[in-house]
Amino acid sequence: MKVNRELYLKLNESVLPFVQKPARYLGLETGTTVKDIKTIPLKFALAFPDFYELGMSHIGMGLIYDILNSEEHIACERVYMPYPDMNAKLKEHNIPLFSLESFEEIKNFDIVGFSLQYELSYTNILFMLELSGIPIFSKDRSGPDDPFIGAGGPCAFNPLPLNDFMDFFIIGDGEVTTVEVCNAVLKAKNSLKSGTLGKTDYRNYVKSLLAEIRGVYVPGFSKSVQKSILSDIDLDRKFNGNENTAYIAKHIVPLVETVHNRLAVEIARGCSSGCRFCQAGYIYRPVRERKKEAVINAVKHGLQTTGLEEMSLSSLSTGDYSDIEALLSELADLTSEKKISMSFPSMRIGSLSENILQKTATVKKTNFTLAPEAGTQRLRDIINKNISEDDLLKEASLLSQKGFKTLKLYFMIGLPFERIADLDGIADLIIKIKKTAKGLNITVNVNNFVPKPHTPFQWHPMEKESELNFKINYLKRLLKPLNVNFKYQDPKVSFIEGLISRGDDFTPKIIYNAYKFGAVYDSESRLFNCGAWLKALECEYGYNYNEHKYLYEEKNIDSPLPWDFIDILIDKDFLKEEYKKSRLQNLKSIYTSKSNSSFDGDGVSSQNLLTENCRKVCYLCGVCDFKTVRPVYSSKAENIKMHKKKRKDDEKYINININNDTNTENPVGRASFSELTFIYSKRGAAKYLGHLETVKILLKAFRIIGIPLIYRKSEFTSRPKLSFSNPIPFMSESDSLHIKARVSAEYAAETDLNILSDNINRLLPDGLKIIGINVVKHQ
Ligand code: SF4
Repeated sequence: MKVNRELYLKLNESVLPFVQKPARYLGLETGTTVKDIKTIPLKFALAFPDFYELGMSHIGMGLIYDILNSEEHIACERVYMPYPDMNAKLKEHNIPLFSLESFEEIKNFDIVGFSLQYELSYTNILFMLELSGIPIFSKDRSGPDDPFIGAGGPCAFNPLPLNDFMDFFIIGDGEVTTVEVCNAVLKAKNSLKSGTLGKTDYRNYVKSLLAEIRGVYVPGFSKSVQKSILSDIDLDRKFNGNENTAYIAKHIVPLVETVHNRLAVEIARGCSSGCRFCQAGYIYRPVRERKKEAVINAVKHGLQTTGLEEMSLSSLSTGDYSDIEALLSELADLTSEKKISMSFPSMRIGSLSENILQKTATVKKTNFTLAPEAGTQRLRDIINKNISEDDLLKEASLLSQKGFKTLKLYFMIGLPFERIADLDGIADLIIKIKKTAKGLNITVNVNNFVPKPHTPFQWHPMEKESELNFKINYLKRLLKPLNVNFKYQDPKVSFIEGLISRGDDFTPKIIYNAYKFGAVYDSESRLFNCGAWLKALECEYGYNYNEHKYLYEEKNIDSPLPWDFIDILIDKDFLKEEYKKSRLQNLKSIYTSKSNSSFDGDGVSSQNLLTENCRKVCYLCGVCDFKTVRPVYSSKAENIKMHKKKRKDDEKYINININNDTNTENPVGRASFSELTFIYSKRGAAKYLGHLETVKILLKAFRIIGIPLIYRKSEFTSRPKLSFSNPIPFMSESDSLHIKARVSAEYAAETDLNILSDNINRLLPDGLKIIGINVVKHQ
């Protein structure tokens, strides 16, 4: 039951009936934690400055939510950026932004913590603060009445662009640090209550406490900050070494379709590949793998409690996981028995084996994504993408042999030292893939390179919009006859991304002015308001953005960088060396193509220009002290080695026709099965759920309970045999809806249908209820 009943009633009457997908704002998902918020001493609003569908797909949000709510003294509730129709209604009725769990106004929380995943969502933060009635600038917040506003996530590694708006930033792993931040605020609140701290000193006192926590940067209080780091992502978690417990106790399962509607289990943090363009590869070092047993527990627990039918193993490079084959073997039994599809969002080329594909494809042939990043070996060597064309062709061929239909390839343009021949190389590569891997539908995604802070390319200039546009048009012409889908990023969007991510003390003013000129929802490409940004730059500060210095000029490698005060533990000299190697690699490619002889430049031998995966060779980048911080691998063998060296297809889901028996697979034989008809009602808040959403909620409940549904199986897919009553109009209520499912005759005969109905109802949101189950046996 929502605590703020008054607000709920107001929304129900004047707002929710008039917005699209109101279920986004109702907090009816399974797996949420709703505490009696008025009685909890510390209230934390976990804010995602983008839409619900994106935020619900983000693994880190679920993790922090789970950790904070596992603390008795903390209530953590969620808030997402509302869609434009919702914002208009909230403003029309003078309703401030509220949390999903208790419908509590955001300004009543003690802390509001934003997850920073993408620079183009920064103006949404200002919007959400304003909609909450919280002063946008940190200097305008006063006393204990205003919450502390903080931010964490990958973009926080350059906090300067948001310096004027945030009270604090969390740099690095947030699991432990976020709880420490909450405890510091609570300590100050208690001092305030006891009278030992005055209201006027309150905010400065809290900030001084926060500045003492490792990994917390407080503008105006901290001079520098060292990132926080978990030495072992299994052992440092709250479940301390208990291998039988999943690392996330409760998963929130969305009611509406989200970007990734699947169970995502993080198997490792950090990456050992050393690609010179990749910020994540540097800020999350070193690699820390979750133990195989912990991953399996997490998968079992997640599938059991969510009823989801898809899962993914998440990390920066899943194929590099040291126990990958053994892990997949164990997971394959589990997932094929439960008809779960398994996918890997990030597979390094060269790490995909026949065995891995065999395991992942047991249930459904998922799409595959590979990222060569550059079209030629020359450019791949410059960016230290240690893959070969042979590896790529072998893997594409394997995918087509195994029945995969779609391959997405990711490339970047505007990379350092790129030439037109490298773009030609992209087309050549695709021609070769099409020859070797027949039948694959290929999508080519091209992103514009942004030289990000804390990478070896942080000194390199970004390419101008005109150059990027030229390259995009060039590629369009090259790829047109090849019959591939070509997707690319608007160079104007990349310009803003570069402008913010490489920002300095001056950037908050640009962000604020762009916001005031109408820049909001910029992360949604159709709503991106470039004009507002250009106006903020040109009108207010006289910048011609095509001459923007900190984007378009190479930085002096020996001069300080604005973000140097953020210590990611990597020695700057290591990054410099990597940058120099890339320059020399470029020179080498020019020299050897002209003189056909070997190259040795600037004291660095040609053999050393590539930096190997640091699972094989440690380059002493500075992160590991090999006492408290070191790479952690699931496989013991890998540890020794190290130390020696230093959808849309969900539509199909409900369209399966129970009368189509051509491919029937009945695990107990064709002789007999039973059809269960679940009659259900949809009333109250549940009337906001669409037909598809309702069906999915019911199916998840069936999965959690373990109802052994009979599946229809074809070569590429496996779906339960189901049929449904016709959809009722949106926002209508009914007591006579049904869903029919086939189960074995034995199961139907042995099951107490009243108990089954009660068990399902315990898992359903308010207003959705099974009111009867009928059974018909078929011979
Ligand atoms: S210190 Fe060595 S092992 Fe650790 S992250 Fe750096 S290169 Fe890898």
